[in-house]
Amino acid sequence: MRTTSRYRAAARMIAAIGVVSLVAACSGSGGAPGGGATGGAATGGYPDQNITFVVPFSAGGPTDTVTRMIAEPMAAKLGGKIVVQNVEGAGGTVGAGEVARAEPDGYTVLMHHIGMSTAPALYQNLGYKPLESFEMVGLVTEVPMTIVARKDFEPATLQDLVTYVKANANKVTLANAGIGAASHLCGLLFQTAAGVKLQEVPYEGTGPALTDLVGGQVDFMCDQTTNTSGQISAGEVKAYAVTTPERVKSLPDLPTTTEAGLPKLQVSVWHGLYVPKGTPQEVVQKLTEALKVALADQKVIDQMAKLGTAPVPAEDATPQAHRAKLEEQLGTWAKVIADAGVKAS
Ligand code: ASP
Repeated sequence: MRTTSRYRAAARMIAAIGVVSLVAACSGSGGAPGGGATGGAATGGYPDQNITFVVPFSAGGPTDTVTRMIAEPMAAKLGGKIVVQNVEGAGGTVGAGEVARAEPDGYTVLMHHIGMSTAPALYQNLGYKPLESFEMVGLVTEVPMTIVARKDFEPATLQDLVTYVKANANKVTLANAGIGAASHLCGLLFQTAAGVKLQEVPYEGTGPALTDLVGGQVDFMCDQTTNTSGQISAGEVKAYAVTTPERVKSLPDLPTTTEAGLPKLQVSVWHGLYVPKGTPQEVVQKLTEALKVALADQKVIDQMAKLGTAPVPAEDATPQAHRAKLEEQLGTWAKVIADAGVKAS
């Protein structure tokens, strides 16, 4: 998609879903990611204009939810406004690419998740390098995933699901948020563990995928508790398991994949904040400090707990811990993806 129309679409999205602001709601004033800087970033005056947080998936999905949770307390600490923009597409790589190419002035910040570490193994022409194109601000949270299906989907348990999809591989549909997204990876792990290849239905985020799942347009998917908790608790979807070694406190009846018989299906979705390479260190530091304050905010802790997750410990909300995590995860996923033989383009 051409950049200008992408930005226009993003501006319309902002107008529709609003702005996180300390002062007042304002629509679309963030402009193009990285395009509106006035050069104040390297000074002690940062921030002196709106900061844009780019979410590389649809509004209303799990990445968007976590971003909006921390944006308000971060804006309060920074003494400015944060505008959230959804720049979706290609499993989160479109939004990440936009931020990699943005002005390195601290006014364009990317929230991304595990997908940052999977994309290089999947996309041949990514246009950015995770470790080289960004400065890391800090880790944010690590979110369990759940395997959920439309309410009237036949299989009752995870074992039933495996049996069912094997027998009906040509007609079962598995939703995801595009190649390299967390839902894609989790779906990949499921298919590997079950020994089956299914028809995948890609969305620009699991927000709209969940809507379709509730509406019965797709059969099942894997997604973060930050998106699925409400629908699981309300009985709007059928939930089979959570993909972490321990059960999730807010969903106490949901078995783990190990309990449910697929111990190899383990994944949790770490999130971090990035700015373009070359962003002044004092600006990165201010963002890191604001992130730490947001993660210690009781409202954020409570909101996350309700959705099955928690902020990372303070020592992980740092550029150093973030870089170490990304380095480790790039290696881990390169191997899993090579073994699975998957490619996006
Ligand atoms: N949960 C999505 C994923 O599969 C991302 C999103 O929609 O926020 O990665």
